[in-house]
Amino acid sequence: MVLRFFSLKRIKHFLLIISAVFFSGVLLNAEKLVILHFNDLHARIDNLAKIAFIAQINDQSNPDVLLISLGDNFSGSPIVDQCQPQGEPVLNIFNKIGLDLLVIGNHEFDYGAERLQTFLQKGKFTALLANAQVPETFKTLLLSYYPYQTSVGTKIIFVPLLQVDEDGYPSTHPDAIKGFSFYEPLAFAENFIHLKEKSDYLVALTHLGTDQDVQLAERYNFFPLIIGGHSHTTIEQPLKVGNSQIVQAGDNGHFLGRLEIEFNDQKKVCALKYRLIDLKKVESRDQEIEKLITEYNKNPYFKTVLIKNDFEFLTKESVGYLVTDAMRSVVGADICLFNAGGVRRSRLAKEITIKDVYDTLPFRNELVVYKMKTSEIRKLILKYFLRRQQTPDLFISGAKYLIRKIANDQFEVLLSGENDQPLDENECFQVVINSYMAANDSKDLPQNGKSSYLIIGDALKKYLEVLAGKGQKLPDYNNIKRIRVE
Ligand SMILES: [Zn+2]
Repeated sequence: MVLRFFSLKRIKHFLLIISAVFFSGVLLNAEKLVILHFNDLHARIDNLAKIAFIAQINDQSNPDVLLISLGDNFSGSPIVDQCQPQGEPVLNIFNKIGLDLLVIGNHEFDYGAERLQTFLQKGKFTALLANAQVPETFKTLLLSYYPYQTSVGTKIIFVPLLQVDEDGYPSTHPDAIKGFSFYEPLAFAENFIHLKEKSDYLVALTHLGTDQDVQLAERYNFFPLIIGGHSHTTIEQPLKVGNSQIVQAGDNGHFLGRLEIEFNDQKKVCALKYRLIDLKKVESRDQEIEKLITEYNKNPYFKTVLIKNDFEFLTKESVGYLVTDAMRSVVGADICLFNAGGVRRSRLAKEITIKDVYDTLPFRNELVVYKMKTSEIRKLILKYFLRRQQTPDLFISGAKYLIRKIANDQFEVLLSGENDQPLDENECFQVVINSYMAANDSKDLPQNGKSSYLIIGDALKKYLEVLAGKGQKLPDYNNIKRIRVE
């Protein structure tokens, strides 16, 4: 079906060119820019063969096509994240499919600055980051904006913006961004105003999330188009805010956004068409890329079954309890607290494979053990609850908690042991958390944290291996409840 469409389109385009040249001597239909964009791929490479195919079709029928990644290409699949060197499948495929622009997202730093540097050196694409001061070694690898001239001469400038948390850093492990400093993106965007005069069309390529994209559009009137990422939002039709249109293409390589922007002879936009391509409905693939992906996926190591259970994990909470039990057991701590955002799977089949383990815990954080008082544990739980709009955001093992409203916007945390008895206020506990939390919550943690030098994914794998080795079974985690809100 698609192939027929492809050939018809080519013939149509060929006839169009012939007639345009014949009757006027110029290419009438050339003033069109096609942008293909995806975001938050998170190491899910499987649909890249389809994206490659679509990019080729577009290249064959348009002189001006740009393929853009809006950031967060890593962390999400062991096929990419556990590969040595890390991220190599993404790098290889991006170079082969002719990715033009890559906007730095927070997860681009996940493998550390050194690996990012090599990734950018070997990448055939242009990488963009503006709202940051970067180490000397990155200066030639990152552009703060990208000027593009269409085949007819319309000047388009692309400007990137990266999300920055309240603490002044993007959401990644702090060790990975040593030597970088960042500027708050919405305020920083003012610096792009001079590029408006230098261009016919200014496009913001953001890794901010849709909420901040809306704020960007409300605050500045000089971004007619905002192509976003970070919030994993699937936008079917452009969101119109002020003078801007905002688009974003879901996540995990499920969608490819296609923008077709037509310019008139005054170099003004006269039409903008948008289509969100659902890649599940696309059958055609670039065969060379498909072969490469199959090769990467074939690695038998990841299919190894670690444990066979009598039940499936049906909720993120159930997976979260397994994770916390594993972390606590592996380091021999009293209690484990684990941020919900660090657990990336909400379901697990009866058979848990090595791939499942690293899909569940893709971030390479270490386990850190603290000596904490009951009041300190309570404070940390409450902080996460309030930060996540009054939703529990820390999984727990070795204890249970109840969050109760005591007045308007005031809550208390009641902590009890596994036996439901309240925890002794004067007791100190060995509490294990991950190094992402240790770095981000350092102000709320005591100074006595000790790294176990164990990576969270490796710890879960080890836990399941030991359990299976002893012939022990996991409890049905769907029936376990350690967190309640009243
Ligand atoms: Zn992100």
